[in-house]
Amino acid sequence: EINALNVCALEVVADADARVLTLANGLDERLFEHDGQITKREVRALTLSALAPRKGELLWDIGAGSGSIAIEWMLADPAMRAVAIEASSERAARIGRNAVRFGVPGLVVVEGQAPEALRGLPRPDVIFIGGGGSEPGVMEAAIAALAPGGRLVANAVTTEMEAVLLARHAQFGGSLIRIDIARASPVGAMTGWRPAMPVTQWSWIK
Ligand code: SAH
Repeated sequence: EINALNVCALEVVADADARVLTLANGLDERLFEHDGQITKREVRALTLSALAPRKGELLWDIGAGSGSIAIEWMLADPAMRAVAIEASSERAARIGRNAVRFGVPGLVVVEGQAPEALRGLPRPDVIFIGGGGSEPGVMEAAIAALAPGGRLVANAVTTEMEAVLLARHAQFGGSLIRIDIARASPVGAMTGWRPAMPVTQWSWIK
């Protein structure tokens, strides 16, 4: 199931940079099988910090993509629990493979479209919204499902999703941050900053 390119990348990263998986959040993208739809390492580290996993808590990762957020959540402690909700069947299958590769097969993958796919799932302590948050009813369903005192973190890359987060922040408070990351990379024989798309992040306690 695991394709050769990714196994190769895993070995390169594990051997050259780490040998063993670091305990810190923000694992290298190359460690995950993905199709480009993955929260970048630096943004992921800040996102896990905001999600603030505590032993045994249940996370919903809505619009889970490669599953990187839910997987790092699961890696925090063997008692962690998570449900990854993903609309694309191809990506849902990939999340399952990534969970096995990272040794967290207990990650539950739900293939389906939020908000419908959220119905009947066990009440979460924490919710992350990485996709689908600007679609009708998703934000409302997430807020309604969240346990009292639970934490919600949502990332926006599009202006449509950012508008949703600005409105919720105005309505409920919480905290808003904007994450602007640039990575240095070759420009001809020299080096220049390549900015990633800025990410707006809203965190809120119910
Ligand atoms: N955090 C992820 C990347 C998320 S990309 C990672 O690190 O890998 C956003 C994802 O949301 C995409 O895979 C897209 O298919 C999914 N998505 C969009 N709308 C959705 C919805 N309504 N329900 C479930 N998934 C959705």
